[in-house]
Amino acid sequence: MRITPPQACKAAYLNASEHKLRIEELPLEEALGPVSFALLCHRDRYKSFEVEPYNERNVLCFGAGPLAGARLYGYHRLIFAARSPLWNGFFISSMGGAALPLYHAGVDYVAVEGKSEDYLIAALKGAEDGSIESRFQAINEQDLMDIFQGYKNERGGYALQQYTYDQFNELYRDEERYIDFRIITVGPAALNTNFGSICSTVIRNGTFRVGVDDWAGRGGMGSLIAQAHRTVAIAYGGTYAGKTFTENIKDIKVVNKIFEEEFNEKYTDYVIRSGTKYRYDPHVKSAGTFGVNMSVLGEWLLSFNWQSVNLSESERKALYALVKDHYLKQFNEEIVEPRTFATCGEPCPLTCKKIYHEHKKDYEPYEALGPNSGIFDQRAAEKAVKEVEVMGFDAIEFGNVSSWVLECIHKGLLRKEEIGLKDDVAFDPQTYKIEFSH
Ligand code: SF4
Repeated sequence: MRITPPQACKAAYLNASEHKLRIEELPLEEALGPVSFALLCHRDRYKSFEVEPYNERNVLCFGAGPLAGARLYGYHRLIFAARSPLWNGFFISSMGGAALPLYHAGVDYVAVEGKSEDYLIAALKGAEDGSIESRFQAINEQDLMDIFQGYKNERGGYALQQYTYDQFNELYRDEERYIDFRIITVGPAALNTNFGSICSTVIRNGTFRVGVDDWAGRGGMGSLIAQAHRTVAIAYGGTYAGKTFTENIKDIKVVNKIFEEEFNEKYTDYVIRSGTKYRYDPHVKSAGTFGVNMSVLGEWLLSFNWQSVNLSESERKALYALVKDHYLKQFNEEIVEPRTFATCGEPCPLTCKKIYHEHKKDYEPYEALGPNSGIFDQRAAEKAVKEVEVMGFDAIEFGNVSSWVLECIHKGLLRKEEIGLKDDVAFDPQTYKIEFSH
């Protein structure tokens, strides 16, 4: 069966210099998806390869593919693409579930262009008829820093999400209820480093789902939007739902029929079977990227700034025992057994977000700021990851930098006084004890 998506797509150009939104209808063959739209912008229109990464011509593009709006899970990842200020080349980073409200805003792609004088917060809202309303608010650097320092019991990027919510939530209110919307923000790391990320917490019925946040972490896309365009937050959402397909794949019954014809299996059953790792894997009695990777890695687990590759097999096995008997055990007891699982915002049966209080636990940040940074305890790792997230760093990048710094101190290549540390570091894999995690 062949499903034909709509033949045109809609791009919104958010001009940070003029605080304006311009809409363009594009034939689908010119921009088949968010990556081809970004390539069209970077290669043909703005020629970002001719300028430095923080030039405003390095437009930050984001969007979803032509099957957004269908009852298919994972098709509402929000795909960011631009020249990475961290690595210089064209790069793609994505954020689970965050394209669903963009679909409801009636927009396929957004390009952030130009550069605001003060920092900028923008809001887009789509209506059922496909029209799009935009609002802008400038904020000076001191006020922004004050928000990052603390706003309504939140700090950093989370505080800016709350502030943006307070400024614009009425836009997404329809009498007594809230329509679908979401807010992407940066944290202070985006203003000062080249590995700032973009974060967004799921909002359900107008309320933040604390701990259920998604990140476009890799490549410094937060640094790009903050430093090249001086844009720090964008709210978006709406009530648009008008996209049509040749087969009505917005109806789960139609999707199931297609999957039964093609794969002899209902769609949801197919997704659950294919995504066992992300939901729950009975073979290892654990779940999600953290639980399953940590269950199967064994002595191949990387630790202590990758020094583990030079250890003997028995030494690596001894380190892995700390994971199996403590770090992973905590995860399984606190998250897998009570099944505190959530989705990214899509109505997806895999519920791949593994949540403990306000902490979402994925393998990569909890490895980079876990065993690779000499941390084998969930409480210590939560403290490290949360602080890094509040600052709006890419936690994977940060973990690899911090583990390198820790090894430099351990080996005497850097003195702790040189970076303002008071305590000694414990970073010797051969004499390590779990309590050194803290
Ligand atoms: S819940 Fe997880 S697996 Fe499902 S669509 Fe969202 S990110 Fe993908």
